[in-house]
Amino acid sequence: MALILLATIIVFQYYATKQSYQYNDNMFNFKVTVAMTSVVKRILAINQDPAPTEPVKQLTDNYFVANVNDTPQPYLLETLLREEFQKEQLTDDFEYGIYDCFNDSIVFGSRVEFDEPLGVVQQEKVDIDIPVNMDGHYFGVRFPNKSTSILKELNIEKYAVILVVFIIAFFGYTIFLMLRQRRLSEVKTDFINNMTHELKTPISTIGLSADVLSNPNVQKDEERLKQYVAIIKSESDRLKSQVEKVLQLATLTPRKANLNKDRLDLHKVILGAVATVQPALEESSGKIEVKLEAANPIIHGDPVHITNVIYNLLDNAQKYNDKDPLISIATKNEGGKLFITISDNGVGMKPAQLRMIFDKFYRVPTGDLHNVKGFGLGLFYVKTIVKAHKGKITVESTPGEGSSFTIIFNSSL
Ligand code: ADP
Repeated sequence: MALILLATIIVFQYYATKQSYQYNDNMFNFKVTVAMTSVVKRILAINQDPAPTEPVKQLTDNYFVANVNDTPQPYLLETLLREEFQKEQLTDDFEYGIYDCFNDSIVFGSRVEFDEPLGVVQQEKVDIDIPVNMDGHYFGVRFPNKSTSILKELNIEKYAVILVVFIIAFFGYTIFLMLRQRRLSEVKTDFINNMTHELKTPISTIGLSADVLSNPNVQKDEERLKQYVAIIKSESDRLKSQVEKVLQLATLTPRKANLNKDRLDLHKVILGAVATVQPALEESSGKIEVKLEAANPIIHGDPVHITNVIYNLLDNAQKYNDKDPLISIATKNEGGKLFITISDNGVGMKPAQLRMIFDKFYRVPTGDLHNVKGFGLGLFYVKTIVKAHKGKITVESTPGEGSSFTIIFNSSL
Protein backbone atom coordinates (compact mmCIF):
# COMPACT_ATOMS: atom_id res chain seq x y z
CA MET A 1 0.00 0.00 0.00
CA ALA A 2 2.74 2.43 1.04
CA LEU A 3 4.69 1.47 -2.06
CA ILE A 4 1.72 2.18 -4.36
CA LEU A 5 1.27 5.56 -2.70
CA LEU A 6 4.95 6.28 -3.10
CA ALA A 7 4.94 5.30 -6.77
CA THR A 8 1.88 7.53 -7.37
CA ILE A 9 3.60 10.51 -5.74
CA ILE A 10 6.71 9.96 -7.87
CA VAL A 11 4.71 9.69 -11.12
CA PHE A 12 2.64 12.80 -10.29
CA GLN A 13 5.72 14.74 -9.35
CA TYR A 14 7.42 13.71 -12.58
CA TYR A 15 4.49 14.86 -14.72
CA ALA A 16 4.01 18.09 -12.74
CA THR A 17 7.70 18.98 -13.18
CA LYS A 18 7.58 18.07 -16.86
CA GLN A 19 4.51 20.24 -17.41
CA SER A 20 6.05 23.19 -15.58
CA TYR A 21 9.15 22.82 -17.71
CA GLN A 22 7.02 22.77 -20.86
CA TYR A 23 5.15 25.87 -19.73
CA ASN A 24 8.34 27.79 -18.93
CA ASP A 25 9.83 26.66 -22.23
CA ASN A 26 6.81 27.97 -24.17
CA MET A 27 6.97 31.26 -22.25
CA PHE A 28 10.66 31.59 -23.08
CA ASN A 29 10.07 30.98 -26.81
CA PHE A 30 7.17 33.42 -26.84
CA LYS A 31 9.19 36.17 -25.17
CA VAL A 32 12.12 35.66 -27.56
CA THR A 33 9.78 35.86 -30.55
CA VAL A 34 8.17 39.06 -29.22
CA ALA A 35 11.55 40.67 -28.46
CA MET A 36 13.09 39.73 -31.83
CA THR A 37 9.99 40.92 -33.69
CA SER A 38 10.36 44.29 -31.94
CA VAL A 39 14.04 44.40 -32.95
CA VAL A 40 13.11 43.71 -36.58
CA LYS A 41 10.44 46.41 -36.46
CA ARG A 42 12.86 48.93 -35.02
CA ILE A 43 15.54 48.16 -37.63
CA LEU A 44 13.04 48.39 -40.44
CA ALA A 45 11.59 51.61 -39.02
CA ILE A 46 15.02 53.25 -39.42
CA ASN A 47 14.85 52.59 -43.16
CA GLN A 48 11.11 53.29 -43.04
CA ASP A 49 10.43 49.87 -44.46
CA PRO A 50 7.24 47.96 -43.59
CA ALA A 51 7.72 44.98 -41.28
CA PRO A 52 6.80 41.49 -42.53
CA THR A 53 3.97 39.79 -40.60
CA GLU A 54 5.97 37.01 -39.00
CA PRO A 55 9.64 37.88 -39.26
CA VAL A 56 10.83 35.49 -36.51
CA LYS A 57 11.15 31.72 -36.83
CA GLN A 58 12.25 29.20 -34.23
CA LEU A 59 14.51 26.68 -35.94
CA THR A 60 15.51 24.47 -33.03
CA ASP A 61 14.83 24.43 -29.33
CA ASN A 62 17.26 27.28 -28.65
CA TYR A 63 17.86 28.82 -32.09
CA PHE A 64 15.79 31.65 -33.58
CA VAL A 65 16.17 33.59 -36.83
CA ALA A 66 14.64 36.88 -37.97
CA ASN A 67 14.24 38.31 -41.46
CA VAL A 68 15.38 41.85 -42.13
CA ASN A 69 15.68 43.60 -45.47
CA ASP A 70 19.34 44.51 -45.17
CA THR A 71 22.45 43.34 -43.27
CA PRO A 72 22.09 45.09 -39.92
CA GLN A 73 25.00 46.90 -38.36
CA PRO A 74 26.36 44.72 -35.47
CA TYR A 75 26.50 47.45 -32.80
CA LEU A 76 22.95 48.54 -33.54
CA LEU A 77 21.66 44.97 -33.61
CA GLU A 78 23.33 44.07 -30.32
CA THR A 79 22.03 47.20 -28.61
CA LEU A 80 18.48 46.56 -29.81
CA LEU A 81 18.61 42.86 -28.89
CA ARG A 82 19.83 43.69 -25.39
CA GLU A 83 17.11 46.31 -24.92
CA GLU A 84 14.27 44.18 -26.20
CA PHE A 85 15.37 41.05 -24.33
CA GLN A 86 15.67 43.05 -21.15
CA LYS A 87 12.16 44.41 -21.62
CA GLU A 88 10.95 40.81 -21.71
CA GLN A 89 13.09 40.01 -18.67
CA LEU A 90 15.24 37.64 -20.70
CA THR A 91 18.72 37.97 -19.32
CA ASP A 92 20.17 34.71 -20.62
CA ASP A 93 23.53 34.87 -22.39
CA PHE A 94 23.09 34.58 -26.13
CA GLU A 95 25.05 34.37 -29.36
CA TYR A 96 23.99 36.10 -32.52
CA GLY A 97 25.11 35.96 -36.09
CA ILE A 98 24.36 38.20 -39.06
CA TYR A 99 23.83 36.50 -42.38
CA ASP A 100 24.50 38.12 -45.70
CA CYS A 101 22.64 36.65 -48.64
CA PHE A 102 25.05 38.10 -51.20
CA ASN A 103 27.95 35.94 -50.16
CA ASP A 104 25.81 33.32 -48.37
CA SER A 105 27.73 33.36 -45.10
CA ILE A 106 27.62 34.63 -41.56
CA VAL A 107 29.39 37.98 -41.84
CA PHE A 108 29.40 38.80 -38.16
CA GLY A 109 28.99 36.79 -34.97
CA SER A 110 29.31 37.66 -31.30
CA ARG A 111 28.49 36.35 -27.87
CA VAL A 112 26.63 38.50 -25.33
CA GLU A 113 26.85 38.11 -21.59
CA PHE A 114 24.37 40.27 -19.78
CA ASP A 115 26.62 40.81 -16.77
CA GLU A 116 29.02 42.66 -19.02
CA PRO A 117 27.90 46.05 -20.34
CA LEU A 118 27.94 46.73 -24.05
CA GLY A 119 31.41 47.84 -25.09
CA VAL A 120 33.12 47.65 -28.42
CA VAL A 121 31.25 44.99 -30.37
CA GLN A 122 33.74 42.44 -31.58
CA GLN A 123 33.53 39.59 -34.01
CA GLU A 124 33.76 36.19 -32.30
CA LYS A 125 33.43 32.61 -33.34
CA VAL A 126 29.87 31.60 -32.50
CA ASP A 127 27.79 28.51 -32.88
CA ILE A 128 25.38 29.95 -35.42
CA ASP A 129 24.83 27.85 -38.47
CA ILE A 130 23.36 28.86 -41.78
CA PRO A 131 19.77 27.70 -41.97
CA VAL A 132 18.47 26.24 -45.18
CA ASN A 133 15.29 27.43 -46.90
CA MET A 134 15.72 31.06 -45.87
CA ASP A 135 15.89 33.87 -48.35
CA GLY A 136 17.18 37.37 -47.93
CA HIS A 137 19.03 38.96 -45.03
CA TYR A 138 18.52 37.78 -41.55
CA PHE A 139 20.13 37.45 -38.19
CA GLY A 140 20.11 34.43 -35.90
CA VAL A 141 20.12 34.20 -32.09
CA ARG A 142 21.06 31.15 -30.07
CA PHE A 143 20.64 30.67 -26.31
CA PRO A 144 23.29 28.09 -25.39
CA ASN A 145 22.17 27.80 -21.75
CA LYS A 146 18.44 27.78 -22.32
CA SER A 147 17.50 24.49 -20.68
CA THR A 148 19.67 25.11 -17.61
CA SER A 149 18.14 28.52 -17.11
CA ILE A 150 14.62 27.13 -17.42
CA LEU A 151 15.48 24.46 -14.92
CA LYS A 152 16.76 27.16 -12.59
CA GLU A 153 13.44 28.92 -12.91
CA LEU A 154 11.72 25.79 -11.70
CA ASN A 155 12.73 26.73 -8.20
CA ILE A 156 9.44 25.87 -6.57
CA GLU A 157 9.46 22.54 -8.36
CA LYS A 158 12.99 22.02 -7.11
CA TYR A 159 11.74 22.31 -3.54
CA ALA A 160 8.91 19.97 -4.42
CA VAL A 161 11.43 17.48 -5.77
CA ILE A 162 13.49 17.78 -2.58
CA LEU A 163 10.31 17.25 -0.59
CA VAL A 164 9.44 14.16 -2.60
CA VAL A 165 12.96 12.79 -2.17
CA PHE A 166 12.58 13.44 1.53
CA ILE A 167 9.20 11.68 1.58
CA ILE A 168 10.66 8.73 -0.33
CA ALA A 169 13.56 8.51 2.13
CA PHE A 170 11.10 8.73 5.02
CA PHE A 171 8.89 6.00 3.52
CA GLY A 172 11.92 3.83 2.85
CA TYR A 173 13.07 4.26 6.43
CA THR A 174 9.58 3.49 7.76
CA ILE A 175 9.40 0.29 5.70
CA PHE A 176 12.85 -0.66 6.94
CA LEU A 177 11.74 -0.06 10.55
CA MET A 178 8.54 -2.04 10.01
CA LEU A 179 10.43 -5.01 8.62
CA ARG A 180 12.94 -4.85 11.43
CA GLN A 181 10.13 -4.58 13.95
CA ARG A 182 8.46 -7.64 12.43
CA ARG A 183 11.66 -9.60 12.61
CA LEU A 184 12.27 -8.53 16.21
CA SER A 185 8.77 -9.53 17.17
CA GLU A 186 9.27 -12.97 15.56
CA VAL A 187 12.56 -13.37 17.40
CA LYS A 188 10.83 -12.31 20.62
CA THR A 189 8.02 -14.84 20.17
CA ASP A 190 10.56 -17.58 19.46
CA PHE A 191 12.54 -16.57 22.52
CA ILE A 192 9.47 -16.63 24.77
CA ASN A 193 8.45 -20.07 23.46
CA ASN A 194 11.94 -21.29 24.00
CA MET A 195 12.25 -19.79 27.44
CA THR A 196 8.86 -21.21 28.45
CA HIS A 197 9.96 -24.63 27.28
CA GLU A 198 13.32 -24.43 29.05
CA LEU A 199 11.91 -23.13 32.33
CA LYS A 200 8.78 -25.23 32.45
CA THR A 201 10.62 -28.48 33.10
CA PRO A 202 12.47 -27.43 36.29
CA ILE A 203 9.42 -25.52 37.53
CA SER A 204 7.13 -28.49 37.17
CA THR A 205 9.76 -30.76 38.76
CA ILE A 206 9.89 -28.39 41.74
CA GLY A 207 6.07 -28.28 41.88
CA LEU A 208 5.79 -32.06 41.77
CA SER A 209 8.46 -32.48 44.45
CA ALA A 210 6.62 -29.99 46.70
CA ASP A 211 3.40 -31.97 46.19
CA VAL A 212 5.17 -35.16 47.21
CA LEU A 213 6.63 -33.42 50.25
CA SER A 214 3.18 -32.30 51.40
CA ASN A 215 2.21 -35.94 51.76
CA PRO A 216 2.37 -36.81 55.55
CA ASN A 217 3.70 -40.29 54.76
CA VAL A 218 6.69 -38.89 52.90
CA GLN A 219 7.30 -36.34 55.65
CA LYS A 220 7.76 -39.21 58.09
CA ASP A 221 10.26 -40.92 55.76
CA GLU A 222 13.49 -39.02 56.35
CA GLU A 223 15.27 -40.58 53.39
CA ARG A 224 12.64 -39.55 50.83
CA LEU A 225 12.34 -36.17 52.49
CA LYS A 226 16.03 -35.55 51.92
CA GLN A 227 15.80 -36.85 48.36
CA TYR A 228 12.99 -34.48 47.38
CA VAL A 229 14.54 -31.50 49.12
CA ALA A 230 17.72 -32.21 47.13
CA ILE A 231 15.73 -32.32 43.88
CA ILE A 232 14.08 -28.97 44.69
CA LYS A 233 17.44 -27.46 45.57
CA SER A 234 19.23 -28.66 42.43
CA GLU A 235 16.37 -27.72 40.11
CA SER A 236 16.05 -24.25 41.64
CA ASP A 237 19.83 -23.81 41.32
CA ARG A 238 19.62 -24.82 37.66
CA LEU A 239 16.77 -22.36 37.12
CA LYS A 240 18.67 -19.61 38.87
CA SER A 241 21.84 -20.14 36.88
CA GLN A 242 19.90 -20.32 33.60
CA VAL A 243 18.04 -17.08 34.30
CA GLU A 244 21.25 -15.39 35.43
CA LYS A 245 23.07 -16.54 32.32
CA VAL A 246 20.34 -15.21 30.03
CA LEU A 247 20.16 -11.88 31.85
CA GLN A 248 23.93 -11.54 31.87
CA LEU A 249 24.38 -12.40 28.21
CA ALA A 250 21.44 -10.36 27.02
CA THR A 251 22.87 -7.17 28.46
CA LEU A 252 26.41 -7.84 27.25
CA THR A 253 28.14 -5.26 25.03
CA PRO A 254 31.79 -5.17 23.91
CA ARG A 255 32.37 -2.28 26.36
CA LYS A 256 30.68 -4.03 29.26
CA ALA A 257 32.57 -7.27 28.65
CA ASN A 258 35.02 -6.38 31.40
CA LEU A 259 38.00 -8.18 29.99
CA ASN A 260 41.06 -9.28 31.91
CA LYS A 261 43.46 -9.32 29.03
CA ASP A 262 46.80 -11.01 29.17
CA ARG A 263 49.28 -12.73 26.91
CA LEU A 264 47.27 -15.72 25.73
CA ASP A 265 48.35 -18.81 23.81
CA LEU A 266 45.38 -19.65 21.57
CA HIS A 267 46.68 -23.17 20.90
CA LYS A 268 46.50 -23.96 24.62
CA VAL A 269 42.97 -22.54 24.78
CA ILE A 270 41.93 -24.63 21.76
CA LEU A 271 43.38 -27.86 23.15
CA GLY A 272 41.57 -27.20 26.47
CA ALA A 273 38.22 -26.60 24.72
CA VAL A 274 38.70 -29.67 22.49
CA ALA A 275 39.30 -31.80 25.61
CA THR A 276 36.04 -30.50 27.09
CA VAL A 277 33.90 -31.36 24.06
CA GLN A 278 35.65 -34.65 23.31
CA PRO A 279 33.59 -36.95 25.63
CA ALA A 280 30.22 -35.74 24.28
CA LEU A 281 31.59 -35.93 20.75
CA GLU A 282 32.71 -39.53 21.18
CA GLU A 283 29.28 -40.35 22.54
CA SER A 284 27.70 -39.15 19.30
CA SER A 285 30.35 -41.02 17.22
CA GLY A 286 31.94 -37.74 16.25
CA LYS A 287 35.51 -36.84 15.41
CA ILE A 288 37.52 -33.67 15.72
CA GLU A 289 40.55 -32.83 13.64
CA VAL A 290 42.99 -30.29 15.10
CA LYS A 291 45.40 -28.52 12.72
CA LEU A 292 47.33 -25.91 14.68
CA GLU A 293 49.56 -24.42 12.00
CA ALA A 294 50.01 -20.88 13.31
CA ALA A 295 53.67 -20.22 14.12
CA ASN A 296 52.59 -17.46 16.46
CA PRO A 297 49.40 -18.39 18.33
CA ILE A 298 49.74 -15.56 20.87
CA ILE A 299 47.10 -12.84 21.26
CA HIS A 300 46.35 -10.26 23.91
CA GLY A 301 43.12 -11.61 25.31
CA ASP A 302 40.90 -12.67 28.19
CA PRO A 303 41.47 -16.42 28.83
CA VAL A 304 38.00 -17.11 30.27
CA HIS A 305 36.03 -15.37 27.53
CA ILE A 306 38.18 -16.64 24.66
CA THR A 307 37.85 -20.20 26.00
CA ASN A 308 34.05 -19.72 26.08
CA VAL A 309 34.11 -18.44 22.49
CA ILE A 310 35.99 -21.49 21.18
CA TYR A 311 33.87 -23.82 23.27
CA ASN A 312 30.61 -22.25 22.00
CA LEU A 313 31.65 -22.68 18.37
CA LEU A 314 32.73 -26.30 18.93
CA ASP A 315 29.52 -26.98 20.84
CA ASN A 316 27.37 -25.56 17.98
CA ALA A 317 29.36 -27.56 15.41
CA GLN A 318 28.36 -30.66 17.30
CA LYS A 319 24.78 -29.61 18.25
CA TYR A 320 23.58 -28.53 14.81
CA ASN A 321 24.51 -31.77 13.15
CA ASP A 322 22.34 -34.64 11.99
CA LYS A 323 25.20 -36.92 10.90
CA ASP A 324 28.20 -38.28 12.79
CA PRO A 325 29.85 -34.95 13.60
CA LEU A 326 33.10 -34.28 11.77
CA ILE A 327 34.63 -31.11 13.14
CA SER A 328 37.89 -29.45 12.26
CA ILE A 329 39.67 -26.64 14.05
CA ALA A 330 42.63 -25.01 12.36
CA THR A 331 44.89 -22.00 12.93
CA LYS A 332 47.25 -20.04 10.71
CA ASN A 333 49.11 -16.72 10.64
CA GLU A 334 48.71 -14.31 7.74
CA GLY A 335 49.59 -10.63 7.47
CA GLY A 336 50.27 -10.20 11.18
CA LYS A 337 46.92 -11.81 12.05
CA LEU A 338 45.87 -15.06 13.61
CA PHE A 339 43.08 -17.01 11.88
CA ILE A 340 41.08 -19.67 13.71
CA THR A 341 38.67 -21.69 11.58
CA ILE A 342 36.09 -24.10 12.97
CA SER A 343 34.31 -26.17 10.32
CA ASP A 344 31.65 -28.85 10.57
CA ASN A 345 29.61 -31.22 8.40
CA GLY A 346 26.38 -30.15 10.11
CA VAL A 347 22.97 -28.95 8.94
CA GLY A 348 24.31 -25.63 7.58
CA MET A 349 22.33 -22.43 7.18
CA LYS A 350 20.70 -20.44 4.39
CA PRO A 351 22.17 -17.02 3.45
CA ALA A 352 19.14 -15.18 4.94
CA GLN A 353 19.68 -16.98 8.24
CA LEU A 354 23.43 -16.38 8.19
CA ARG A 355 22.79 -12.64 8.26
CA MET A 356 20.98 -12.96 11.60
CA ILE A 357 22.73 -15.68 13.56
CA PHE A 358 24.87 -13.20 15.49
CA ASP A 359 21.77 -11.25 16.59
CA LYS A 360 20.63 -11.47 20.17
CA PHE A 361 18.03 -14.26 20.72
CA TYR A 362 18.03 -15.32 17.08
CA ARG A 363 17.69 -19.03 16.44
CA VAL A 364 17.16 -20.66 13.10
CA PRO A 365 13.45 -21.59 13.11
CA THR A 366 12.89 -25.33 13.39
CA GLY A 367 9.11 -25.28 13.80
CA ASP A 368 8.01 -26.50 17.20
CA LEU A 369 10.90 -28.89 17.58
CA HIS A 370 13.02 -28.27 20.62
CA ASN A 371 15.52 -31.03 20.00
CA VAL A 372 18.48 -28.67 20.40
CA LYS A 373 18.43 -26.44 23.46
CA GLY A 374 19.55 -22.84 23.42
CA PHE A 375 18.44 -19.24 23.78
CA GLY A 376 20.01 -17.80 20.64
CA LEU A 377 22.65 -16.06 22.73
CA GLY A 378 25.72 -18.20 21.98
CA LEU A 379 26.83 -16.54 18.75
CA PHE A 380 25.79 -13.12 20.04
CA TYR A 381 28.17 -13.70 22.94
CA VAL A 382 30.88 -14.97 20.57
CA LYS A 383 30.62 -11.92 18.33
CA THR A 384 30.52 -9.50 21.28
CA ILE A 385 33.67 -10.99 22.80
CA VAL A 386 35.51 -11.12 19.45
CA LYS A 387 34.59 -7.45 18.90
CA ALA A 388 35.74 -6.55 22.40
CA HIS A 389 39.13 -8.00 21.36
CA LYS A 390 39.07 -5.88 18.17
CA GLY A 391 38.79 -9.09 16.17
CA LYS A 392 36.46 -10.19 13.38
CA ILE A 393 34.27 -13.20 12.84
CA THR A 394 32.98 -14.46 9.50
CA VAL A 395 30.87 -17.43 8.51
CA GLU A 396 30.30 -19.49 5.42
CA SER A 397 27.68 -22.18 5.21
CA THR A 398 25.84 -24.47 2.81
CA PRO A 399 22.54 -25.98 3.93
CA GLY A 400 22.88 -29.73 4.34
CA GLU A 401 26.65 -29.66 3.94
CA GLY A 402 28.10 -27.73 6.84
CA SER A 403 29.37 -24.44 8.18
CA SER A 404 32.69 -22.78 8.73
CA PHE A 405 33.33 -19.97 11.22
CA THR A 406 36.58 -17.97 11.07
CA ILE A 407 37.83 -15.65 13.78
CA ILE A 408 40.61 -13.19 13.01
CA PHE A 409 42.63 -11.67 15.84
CA ASN A 410 45.63 -9.38 15.80
CA SER A 411 48.69 -11.41 16.66
CA SER A 412 50.67 -10.39 19.71
CA LEU A 413 54.24 -11.17 20.75
P1 ADP B 1 21.74 -21.24 20.30
O1 ADP B 1 22.70 -22.33 19.92
O2 ADP B 1 21.64 -20.99 21.73
O3 ADP B 1 20.42 -21.38 19.63
P2 ADP B 1 23.50 -19.48 18.87
O4 ADP B 1 23.55 -18.01 18.94
O5 ADP B 1 24.71 -20.23 19.28
O6 ADP B 1 22.27 -19.89 19.73
O7 ADP B 1 23.14 -19.90 17.40
C1 ADP B 1 22.09 -19.24 16.71
C2 ADP B 1 21.53 -20.14 15.62
O8 ADP B 1 22.51 -20.36 14.63
C3 ADP B 1 21.18 -21.53 16.13
O9 ADP B 1 19.82 -21.54 16.49
C4 ADP B 1 21.47 -22.43 14.96
O10 ADP B 1 20.30 -22.63 14.23
C5 ADP B 1 22.45 -21.68 14.12
N1 ADP B 1 23.79 -22.27 14.18
C6 ADP B 1 24.82 -21.87 14.98
N2 ADP B 1 25.94 -22.58 14.74
C7 ADP B 1 25.62 -23.46 13.75
C8 ADP B 1 26.34 -24.49 13.05
N3 ADP B 1 27.63 -24.75 13.31
N4 ADP B 1 25.67 -25.17 12.07
C9 ADP B 1 24.40 -24.88 11.79
N5 ADP B 1 23.65 -23.96 12.41
C10 ADP B 1 24.25 -23.25 13.38
